[in-house]
Amino acid sequence: MTLKRLSENIVYLPPDHRTDRPLLAAVSGTRKTLLIDAGSSPAHVALFLGELKRHGIPQGDYLVITHWHWDHSFGISTLNLPTIAHVKTCEQLAKMTSYSWTDKAIDGRVLEGLEIPFCAEMIKKEYFNRDEIKITLPDIIFEKKLVIDLGGIHCKIEHVGGNHAVDSSIIYIKEEKTLFLGDCLGPAIYSKKWFYQSDILQALLEKIKHYNVETYIESHGEPEPKEKFFQEIKTLKIIASSMENYEGDQDKLITNLTRKLRRQLNQDDLETITYFINGLQ
Ligand SMILES: [Zn+2]
Repeated sequence: MTLKRLSENIVYLPPDHRTDRPLLAAVSGTRKTLLIDAGSSPAHVALFLGELKRHGIPQGDYLVITHWHWDHSFGISTLNLPTIAHVKTCEQLAKMTSYSWTDKAIDGRVLEGLEIPFCAEMIKKEYFNRDEIKITLPDIIFEKKLVIDLGGIHCKIEHVGGNHAVDSSIIYIKEEKTLFLGDCLGPAIYSKKWFYQSDILQALLEKIKHYNVETYIESHGEPEPKEKFFQEIKTLKIIASSMENYEGDQDKLITNLTRKLRRQLNQDDLETITYFINGLQ
């Protein structure tokens, strides 16, 4: 994994699906640099900082966290920067400060429903030595939104919530017309079955619509130009709205969607449909 340049002021380290590492980014103005998300582990942080150094980019003055999930927040202590996060991100991280990270403790939390098998597996894969896990709380806490001026580059951080995590926040880089979405458009994963609730997703899409954006960035994907992103959103919206007439007949739902989308459904569509059906239960 090597650093990629999105524009003169934005670089990013792409996600790594092997241990579910998310994308990390650095946004620079004339005075300061903001890092977006802390990453999964000291090793992930070291890779990112090493790449920034190699490209002559500052190592960051501030750090912002998109949501509390381990892969976005466990690198806070290693980065050791003034860290910005939503109040609910802080609350969630505070709960985790007392956790132990032995196999027994992690597996116990999975049984209790506090952890999910997917993250448990990824944490075990990411860390050779889990004594390295130190949950550190953010320093600068906001409730609705906050703007950072990096010197000619303005970053607006806004809490949007959504299905994936109640604390999800997005970061809009105004001069670059770039929107960092974190994982906010993903399904809820901290439950027995992953799910989408249609009304919550539709409200979130409504909020995102108000930003003037050319490039959208989701944490576990590559940056996307608006045309491609809109296409995906359109599919998601059609599926979400179709759920209003869903009467438990999955075959009928698929036939309706095939007609509305004017194409055969693919594996991703079918997975999304399952999440919406799970959300009804
Ligand atoms: Zn997440």
